[in-house]
Amino acid sequence: MTAVVIDGKAFAAGVRARVAAHVARLREEHGVQPGLAVVLVGQDPASEVYVRNKGVQTLEAGMASYEHKLAADTSEVDLLALIGQLNADRAVHGILVQLPLPGHLNADLIINSIDPAKDVDGFHISNVGLLGTGQKAMVPCTPLGCLMMLRAHHGSLAGMSAVVVGRSNIVGKPMAQLLLGDSCTVTIAHSRTRDLAAVCRGADILVAAVGRAEMITGDMVKPGATVIDVGINRVARDGKARLVGDVDFASASKVAGAITPVPGGVGPMTIACLLANTLTACCRAHGLPEPE
Ligand code: NDP
Repeated sequence: MTAVVIDGKAFAAGVRARVAAHVARLREEHGVQPGLAVVLVGQDPASEVYVRNKGVQTLEAGMASYEHKLAADTSEVDLLALIGQLNADRAVHGILVQLPLPGHLNADLIINSIDPAKDVDGFHISNVGLLGTGQKAMVPCTPLGCLMMLRAHHGSLAGMSAVVVGRSNIVGKPMAQLLLGDSCTVTIAHSRTRDLAAVCRGADILVAAVGRAEMITGDMVKPGATVIDVGINRVARDGKARLVGDVDFASASKVAGAITPVPGGVGPMTIACLLANTLTACCRAHGLPEPE
């Protein structure tokens, strides 16, 4: 068997186009422009690339982009003051504080100081609680992107057996909540799971969010399963730097029914969902109908 490759890049382009069309209508019909503020503390090179891409794609979608680049030694008090200003700013509908933050800053405190209605990353404790109790929440972008691709591929996910490998607050746990919300039977695996291969082989939907290059191999995949690879790992191959996922694509794609590649799978969906969340936050702030 050779798996269908789920084209996240094309899927994300479709999401961004739908967001841009909705933003254009909002501006024309209501004179409202969604605005996204991104706060970057310090000079982490990977974070700088992400922030730049977010800014470019925000503008391309017709939204306003506000970038706040702060020195690595910015104090907690100053960062909290900036977030307070952004919370009060009516032109700003979404606020994203790029993680990781320098060690002297308490990330939980910072994230929980964002107005939950503007928390487009979905990391605020209120949004975590809303998602966990099946209420209207801001949903973390990466798992939301995975869910959108799964729904598009399968239609209903009800009754399917899903295994999420990884239990982080930003990917694994919200992914599991979303799959549960779509009536999957969900297992969360982690570094202490016994016989991970057997657990994975029980999955109709297998989501890998571990951060270990190519650790999920074909023998861990149920024939015909859908494999979603969240991992982004930089490795050296033949003297060149390459990006690989948490799934060994070569062996897994021979067994799976469908699989996301790395790069070009989950990654592009993350920013597309950030834009979709910003649009949703804007519609909610203005009491306008939300996008589908
Ligand atoms: P974390 O490091 O926060 O979490 C990793 C999880 O994997 C932990 O729950 C850990 O278990 C589990 N784990 C580690 N080793 C094993 C193992 N040998 N067997 C089973 N489980 C294991 O990572 P994140 O969730 O933040 O990210 C996961 C991956 O996704 C990374 O590669 C990251 O780069 C990528 N990512 C991609 C995004 C995108 O846009 N595509 C966005 C965010 C992340 P335990 O809890 O027991 O330690």
